[in-house]
Amino acid sequence: MRKKIIAGNWKMNLTFAEAMALADNLLDENKNIDDVEVVLASPFIFLHPLINRIQSNPNFSIAAQNCSDKIKGAFTGEIAASMLASIGVEHVILGHSERRQLYGETNSMIAAKVDRALENGVFPIFCCGELLAERNNNIHFNVVKKQLEESLFHLTSNQIDECIIAYEPVWAIGTGVTASFEQAQEMHEFIRSTISSKYSKSIAEEISILYGGSVTPANASELFDGDDIDGALVGGASLKEKDFSDIIKAMLTKI
Ligand code: PEP
Repeated sequence: MRKKIIAGNWKMNLTFAEAMALADNLLDENKNIDDVEVVLASPFIFLHPLINRIQSNPNFSIAAQNCSDKIKGAFTGEIAASMLASIGVEHVILGHSERRQLYGETNSMIAAKVDRALENGVFPIFCCGELLAERNNNIHFNVVKKQLEESLFHLTSNQIDECIIAYEPVWAIGTGVTASFEQAQEMHEFIRSTISSKYSKSIAEEISILYGGSVTPANASELFDGDDIDGALVGGASLKEKDFSDIIKAMLTKI
C-alpha cells in the first residue's frame, strides 16, 4: 500500500517558541497514528531542534522548504542538500509555486535541486500545478506533464521511487478556493498514468501523490476519498494545531 502522508508547510511563519510549541502539541495530540506519516516543513533555522523533538514519534518526519541546486561553495545565503542530510532532515519541498513565481525557479533549476537532494539521501516533495489561466485555457494537463518531464523524468526508476509528488494548483494555494474532488482526483490519476507510461505501472503505484491548495478539516475527508490522493500538503491550516490534527484524523479514518 502507498504511504499516506500529511505534510504541513509552515512557510515563513512562526517564531522559534511558537514553532516548538506547535510541534510539541502536534506530537502530543497524534501519538498513535500508525500508517500515516506526518511531515513538518519548517524554516531552516528550526529544523535541527525539530529533529530532536520528533525522535519520540516514528510517524513524524521533518522537511526543509528548499535547498540549493549547487553542491557547496560561494553561494551566500544558500543551504546545501548535504547540510540538510547532515542534521537528519528526511524531506525537502522542491518546486513550490511560491519559489517558482517569486524566486524565478525554472523546471531545470528544480531538476538540479532534485538531483542534489537525492544524491544526499533527502527525499524530494516535488510540487507541480497549473495557474488559473492555464486551467481556463485547458492546458493544465500539458503544464503538469511538462513540469514532471523537465524536473523528474531524467531520474532512474529507483530515484523517482524516492520522490513524493504534490499536485498544487496555483489558484488554490492560500486562496481559500480548493480544487473540487473531481478536479483533484482527475489530475492525480493523470500524474500517475504519466509516471506509469514513462517508468512502469508498479513504480507509478508506489509513488504517493499529495493534494495541496487550501486543504482544511472541512474539505480533507472528501479529497482523501480519491483513489489517487494519498494525502495533503497543507499550508495555512498547518499553522493551527487543531486544524492540522483534524486533517490527520480525516486521513486516519480512510485507512
Ligand atoms: C502550500 O503552501 O503548499 C499550500 C497548499 O498552502 P495552503 O494550504 O494555505 O493553500
